[in-house]
Amino acid sequence: MNDTIAAICSAGGPIGLIRVSGERAIEAVCAVFRAKNGKSMSEAPTQKLVYGTLHDAMGRMIDCCYAVVLRAPHTYTGEPMAELQCHGSTAVLTQGLEALFSQGVRQAEAGEFTRRAFLNGKMGLSEAEAVHDLITARTAEAARNAAAQVMGAVGSPVQQMRDELIGMVAHFHAVVDFPDEDIDPVLFDDAAALLHRTTSRLYAMAESYERGRILREGVPCVILGRPNAGKSTLLNTLLGRERAIVTNIPGTTRDLIEENVKVGQLLLRVTDTAGLRDTNDPVEQAGIDRAMAEASACSLILAVFDGSQPLNEDDMLVLARSAGHRAVAIINKDDLPRVLDEKLLKKHFLHIVPISAKTGEGMDRLLTLLPRLIGLEDGALDGALITNARQAAALARAAERCEAALYAATSGMTPDAVVMDAEGAIAALGEITGETVTEAVVTRIFSDFCVGK
Ligand code: GDP
Repeated sequence: MNDTIAAICSAGGPIGLIRVSGERAIEAVCAVFRAKNGKSMSEAPTQKLVYGTLHDAMGRMIDCCYAVVLRAPHTYTGEPMAELQCHGSTAVLTQGLEALFSQGVRQAEAGEFTRRAFLNGKMGLSEAEAVHDLITARTAEAARNAAAQVMGAVGSPVQQMRDELIGMVAHFHAVVDFPDEDIDPVLFDDAAALLHRTTSRLYAMAESYERGRILREGVPCVILGRPNAGKSTLLNTLLGRERAIVTNIPGTTRDLIEENVKVGQLLLRVTDTAGLRDTNDPVEQAGIDRAMAEASACSLILAVFDGSQPLNEDDMLVLARSAGHRAVAIINKDDLPRVLDEKLLKKHFLHIVPISAKTGEGMDRLLTLLPRLIGLEDGALDGALITNARQAAALARAAERCEAALYAATSGMTPDAVVMDAEGAIAALGEITGETVTEAVVTRIFSDFCVGK
């Protein structure tokens, strides 16, 4: 029998939630909560809010609040649960929690409610991981993708593929166990069709991780350009507010300035950098070195050029740094007469966008282009994007083993060879649903959660 746990589940709002789960959850809440209608909470209907008062171990009133009992198995954890909806001050909530502790309840560990939900079969491991994504989502789109995954957008197709492979392996086992009988060639044909379909699906899912990670974490993006090209002005225009210091003194931005900018479904983690140029100032040079290092690690470079000036040697540093990267050339100061000759830029960049960071002209084109460039243009996010590195790795492994089984099935190898690789794929898929995952992995996954979830 599991012990009973409790935690404060809300942060800083006017209403605070204390959640209790375990065999003694309802009993403990009965002991600390007195319903205004005079009835015991043990008789309260499940999932119905009851108004009353919360009391400490000495019987003193802590709060007037709501309580609700949730009877197993129809609860989040699958265990008996109860919740107290209190006033949100830390003083009230910690006293409420302590009142429960005096009833033999203990503090829940990070992710322990969801871990219990997983262990009690209320959700698969990929659904539990999506709960964490949902709590930490930084954009509405990332939240939507995660919510769909909580509802099984990853777990269900993976479970289905796993079940189909298990069915196929069972057929092969029957053949392997009776080696004297002729093997029906249809068995190999059916297996090949299934393995072909499954391999493609698995690779597609594994490959969606690149976009999924961007959806969850944002895309690291660097603004590069010579001093005074308008990098800080561009960052401010992207942000819609003054953040970087804008001056006409070259070399003002010496360190890196990092900001999150939402562009459609895309979260850009933009770093403004020191202007690239030859300098004798060691502090400025240090800033330029950091800008260079940042650029080599980022996924997108916004290379800013001053359209009102001819290209100069400092711009060549920007061209060199952008080479081999996903990059956009931005010709800034388009409100001024154009002096810059685009020919050289066209040789280096696939995408060139004239803008005026100062007036906002051309920004629409830039903002439409960026999500397209990253592969996250507006579209339905139905949970299909894999956002989790562990799941992506398991999917890739499953795809490889499926492909190997397909090769075995189509190249006249023995049934054992097909079975061995298919079982490898089944095990890898089980790591996603949680069926074949180790205790250590489960512990690591839930330790990333916050307390109270
Ligand atoms: P950085 O050194 O590249 O960060 O450049 P800043 O953003 O500090 O801008 C340098 C100067 O160029 C400032 O005086 C800005 O007001 C000016 N500037 C930036 N963008 C534009 C623009 O689109 N049009 C015009 N006319 N001036 C701009």
